[in-house]
Amino acid sequence: MSSDTAALEVLVFGSAIIDFICYTPRLPAAGETLHGHKFQRGFGGKGANQCVAAARLGSKTALVAKLGDDSFGADYLQQLRLEQVNVQHVERVPGESTGIAQIAVADDGENNIIIVVGANNLLSTDDVGNAKQLFEQAKVLVCQLETPVPATLEALRQFKGVSIVNAAPALAQTPAELLKLASILCVNETEAALMTGVANISSISEATSATERLIDLGANTVIITLGKLGAVCAHKEADRLHSQYVAAPQVPPELVVDTTGAGDAFIGALAHHLARYPERKLVEHIAAACAVASKSVQLPGTQASFPRA
Ligand code: ADP
Repeated sequence: MSSDTAALEVLVFGSAIIDFICYTPRLPAAGETLHGHKFQRGFGGKGANQCVAAARLGSKTALVAKLGDDSFGADYLQQLRLEQVNVQHVERVPGESTGIAQIAVADDGENNIIIVVGANNLLSTDDVGNAKQLFEQAKVLVCQLETPVPATLEALRQFKGVSIVNAAPALAQTPAELLKLASILCVNETEAALMTGVANISSISEATSATERLIDLGANTVIITLGKLGAVCAHKEADRLHSQYVAAPQVPPELVVDTTGAGDAFIGALAHHLARYPERKLVEHIAAACAVASKSVQLPGTQASFPRA
């Protein structure tokens, strides 16, 4: 056991994407060139976001991910090091481009986005074996669906601790094995609706019904986040279903500046609390995650908005 992995708390297996955001008066028409008025770069990708969220709270974290050998990959690696993330298994793939999202945001809030996942698509089952030591040491594993599903399934098969699967972006058909392998399935209301085939989930009772449906589909413990309302969770014990609602701290509307990445802040915080306080109840972990996510909506940006311990 190397001293570097001895106390590893949160291991994230997933994506890293850089956002290039152009703010523009309106969205361009086909073939049109427009002058925007502001440009911003942001470090993103659900995997890296969730890892940074946990690291900022003080968890010892590691990320298994793929970047390109372009300058964006070099920048991202440096950024992850600054955030104290173990990047021993963040690989820069020769000849590949780093995952990028090109985002245009118009003054009226309309946007369009092109994502080129690049190196993220190369995260494979081999990467699970290569990071064996991290998988053996981590207390909590976090996965999402922005990288190839076969590799995610292999990561879950090999991991023996508590695993969180953030099934985002949601697939039209979620593999049954994914639901069975995850200790905790965590999705937002849109993803839960897609996974359960209902048109819309907008209330606590609709979300509670969806948790039950997801448990019927094979999930062990389910959390559905509901924006400013907080989250619902459910699990089965001795064939009886237990579901609970956890309210998020209320944030006055004028203080909500940017909800991008709130779900990632929630999951990173959930992983941190599960790893750090394993004796506590699930609803306590969820309440702590809501508290962290509700702070993140009060600052602009994604990773930039995640609170520190
Ligand atoms: P996603 O970002 O995946 O769409 P949600 O919108 O469900 O996820 O938000 C995740 C969590 O962030 C919520 O469970 C809640 O704790 C917190 N949150 C989101 N929006 C607000 C808000 N307006 N006020 C307070 N907390 C919020």
